[in-house]
Amino acid sequence: AINSTLKAEEPISPPIEIDHTQLLINGQFVDSASGKTFPTFDPRTGDVIAHVAEGDTEDVNGAVDAARKAFEQGPWPRMTAYERCRIILRCADLLEKHIEDVAALETWDNGKPYEQALNIELPMVIRTFRYYAGWADKIHGLTIPADGQFHVQTLHEPYGVTGLIIPWNFPLLLYSWKVAPSLACGNTIVLKTAEQTPLSALYVSKLFHEAGLPPGVLNVVSGYGATAGAALSSHMDVDKLSFTGSTVTGKIILGLAAKSNLKPVTLELGGKSPFIVCEDADVDKAVELAHNALFFNQGQCCVAGSRTFVHERVYDEFVEKAKARALKRIVGDPFKKGVEQGPQIDDAQFNKILKYIKSGIESGATLESGGVRHGSKGYYVQPTVFSDVQDDMLIAKDEIFGPVQSISKYKNLDEVIQRANATPFGLAAGVFTQNIDTANTLTRALKAGTVWVNCYDVFDATIPFGGFKMSGQGREKGIYGLTSFLQVKAVVTPLKNPAW
Ligand code: NAD
Repeated sequence: AINSTLKAEEPISPPIEIDHTQLLINGQFVDSASGKTFPTFDPRTGDVIAHVAEGDTEDVNGAVDAARKAFEQGPWPRMTAYERCRIILRCADLLEKHIEDVAALETWDNGKPYEQALNIELPMVIRTFRYYAGWADKIHGLTIPADGQFHVQTLHEPYGVTGLIIPWNFPLLLYSWKVAPSLACGNTIVLKTAEQTPLSALYVSKLFHEAGLPPGVLNVVSGYGATAGAALSSHMDVDKLSFTGSTVTGKIILGLAAKSNLKPVTLELGGKSPFIVCEDADVDKAVELAHNALFFNQGQCCVAGSRTFVHERVYDEFVEKAKARALKRIVGDPFKKGVEQGPQIDDAQFNKILKYIKSGIESGATLESGGVRHGSKGYYVQPTVFSDVQDDMLIAKDEIFGPVQSISKYKNLDEVIQRANATPFGLAAGVFTQNIDTANTLTRALKAGTVWVNCYDVFDATIPFGGFKMSGQGREKGIYGLTSFLQVKAVVTPLKNPAW
């Protein structure tokens, strides 16, 4: 069992006893068919936390078989929608009961501040399950006044076996955005977690079985992308895929889906989101929001406001204050109280971020703060701020996925609209102004799936989320996230006595 006597004031190491490292198939924990395992690491130190069963094609096949059987023969899609709703609500209740343990597990495997996991992310996960539980008995089709003497109706049906593939930056939050709506619609699931963060999904999925989820409905296969992930994406008996991760992987997955059984795919991919500070913005507020928009979750957010455009009238003041804020950011052991920034996820990301910082310096951007690692062990990077960033620099074009803020100057709205949209991505954007006309112009002109005005990172379960352009296809959360797990069947019946 997990030790929940966690004292947030003190770093604890190791914080938890790990119970679940096997694959979860048909309601049972089992070793991988090959017997192989892979290590998952503590980003604070680089030490191994646990060795986890490594799923591959054979395990994915077994999990898909279990999910198929649960869908075709099991109670899940057959029970009343209200019963399904109640089981999902019980999942949320159990998760809430174990929230401290789960948050600790998430922090240990991912490196995110414990307070963030406990007070921000896990409550959002629980809320997402409750939100979609509420939808379970409100899914229904239409009756349609078609031409001719026919009774025409649509049935909104689950796809069947859904394959869900998630990344490491918000392991349980992204789990909830896919698992909750898929379950509410009556689908069954094979989930492939990220190889960097396999632990929390195993723990939580086990809890969900205690809440009454029938065996085979939610199967969890840990493992690598090129093996387990690819096997799931190209499986002939998976009816629908939902993926969150990088754009590069999204393209591969779409290709695998096309080459196999042409299963529909929802994609939530990368971003390079603009954060626009207008000349009339409240600079202090804008600095704080821009700081959090970029540095939240160690900068490992798909929506990170990674291109900060500041109007020339407030530019110098903004840069000075953004630098001061970054220098104040508290970096350290994520289990310590008050820590704002923990380590990056792994050595690969850590090295990639340092390379981008080097490229920023070499290309002539002004390094205002940070620029190097923090401390001597683990994957900590100092909060880094660049000013004088030009659009053609690598740091302004690529998704860095780290604590590196890039600030650029602009002169007028037309210019900033053109520059903000000059990217293959279109996930999110932030707009900072007190002028309603400026806000309206920007919200309509920006090509992004979400535009936040005078706020950022508002992720309510009810609000749809997804990308324009190469940031994705389809939407998650809200009613839009529900429909991506349903297919529409038209039923046409001749009317025997049309006059009536
Ligand atoms: P990634 O694409 O490398 O990995 C994501 C998942 O895909 C992992 O589970 C991985 O094992 C799996 N995968 C990798 N190769 C695969 C393959 N060939 N076939 C099938 N599955 C495969 O991304 P990452 O580095 O783990 O995550 C960071 C990226 O995710 C960033 O680019 C970020 O912007 C993006 N992201 C997007 C959103 C969003 O909602 N739009 C949210 C979070 C992260």
